[in-house]
Amino acid sequence: MKNTGFRTAGADGRLVVAVPSKGRLAQPSLELLEAAGLNFELSDRSLHVPCSNAPVEFLLVRPHDIPEYVQDGVVDAGITGANLIAETAAKVETLLELGFGRCTLEAAVPEESGLERPEDLDGLRVATAYPVSTKAALEEIGVKAELVLLSGSVEVAPRLGLSDAVVDLVSTGSTAAANGLRRIGTLLDSQAVLIGSKRELGERTEMLARLEMMLRGVIAARRRRYLMLNAPADRVAELEALLPSMGAPSVVKLAEQGQLALHAAVDVDAIWDLLPRLKAAGASSILVMHLERVVP
Ligand code: AMP
Repeated sequence: MKNTGFRTAGADGRLVVAVPSKGRLAQPSLELLEAAGLNFELSDRSLHVPCSNAPVEFLLVRPHDIPEYVQDGVVDAGITGANLIAETAAKVETLLELGFGRCTLEAAVPEESGLERPEDLDGLRVATAYPVSTKAALEEIGVKAELVLLSGSVEVAPRLGLSDAVVDLVSTGSTAAANGLRRIGTLLDSQAVLIGSKRELGERTEMLARLEMMLRGVIAARRRRYLMLNAPADRVAELEALLPSMGAPSVVKLAEQGQLALHAAVDVDAIWDLLPRLKAAGASSILVMHLERVVP
């Protein structure tokens, strides 16, 4: 177990959750926790952030360290990148995928290289900042590469003559392209996840289940929009059939004779196609609203 200087989680009965303190996952993690209804104030001085409306405390630390902290019981749960669980080989449980921090661990080679697939990397030099997950993913396809460990700017390694290929995290692919690299294969898909330890948490078990439920509700709400529309009563059946709702849409009476309102929570990606079809089927006064939580 790492000596972190922190006491073991739960000593005072509060659920301790490790949250990324910096990097790409930090801001969206805090936004998610806030959206889940937790009240807290960040201070520049303290890594411990108590919540004022729940027996929950955050520990702000590097996302890379979080899987091990959870595994070792330094904290009860944490938010980190799925790739970092693979990278630390920590024994933790993934409780929930959080829908942000999406990226892939990709193999890439210089444009002019003749290499086409990750399988072609056998016996070659591969630069990466993620040696454990790279080695594991390559070994899974029977490839033994010589790993060149770098801590950042991995994409310049081939040009410096340090490697034949690179394996790095990619979200848009623009960094690789800007450095004259061509992607040859995905080794791992990742996104931010809530993780818990396999240890017994005692009375904090219920608190963790509640946190998970709250986060799940926010994530489900982010994927949906609440749609309200008015329609002539004789076209409601047609409109209902168009609405891919959670359960059946609600049909609400309006003061105006012959008019009804339809309410439905629909998948956010469906909206683009749906609105013109609803209009064409007689809908008017269409409102599209954000939802705060969806708890089935
Ligand atoms: P960083 O912000 O570089 O400390 O990365 C922290 C974590 O953010 C990574 O381990 C990944 O889980 C995630 N991530 C999401 N997109 C990217 C990306 N394009 N490059 C690096 N990490 C990413």
